[in-house]
Amino acid sequence: MTSKISGRCLCGSVSFECDQVPVFQANCHCDDCRRSGGGVHASFVFVPADGLRVSGRTQTYEHTSDAGNIMTKYFCPDCGSQMFGSGSGKPERRGIRVGVIDDASWFQPMANVYSSRKLPSTPLDPEVKAFDKMPG
Ligand SMILES: [Zn+2]
Ligand SMILES: [Zn+2]
Repeated sequence: MTSKISGRCLCGSVSFECDQVPVFQANCHCDDCRRSGGGVHASFVFVPADGLRVSGRTQTYEHTSDAGNIMTKYFCPDCGSQMFGSGSGKPERRGIRVGVIDDASWFQPMANVYSSRKLPSTPLDPEVKAFDKMPG
């Protein structure tokens, strides 16, 4: 595990640091994650929101999840990189998209969520717990 997480968007207008240990790490295969990020799944590490320091301006987009929570996506208005996510169900957390972290070699998903929505060609590590939907 790393002691500090840092990262930036593709163009560098937005950067961030976090010196707190992630409370959860996961891959999400839901339609919203696939559509917003353009990949076959999204990967997140979740950190306490007050531990995340962001430099630069992000733009947000809000939508409602199938569980009825208001989900907020934070992205760079210049290059469009999806960077962070938060949900009204757990407002004290921020999800950081693993792809915008400088060195995420330590990333180890603890769960595959919305595995019921994954594409047939996406492999799942049998060592990682799979949840049909979002757990708890
Ligand atoms: Zn950018
Ligand atoms: Zn998702």
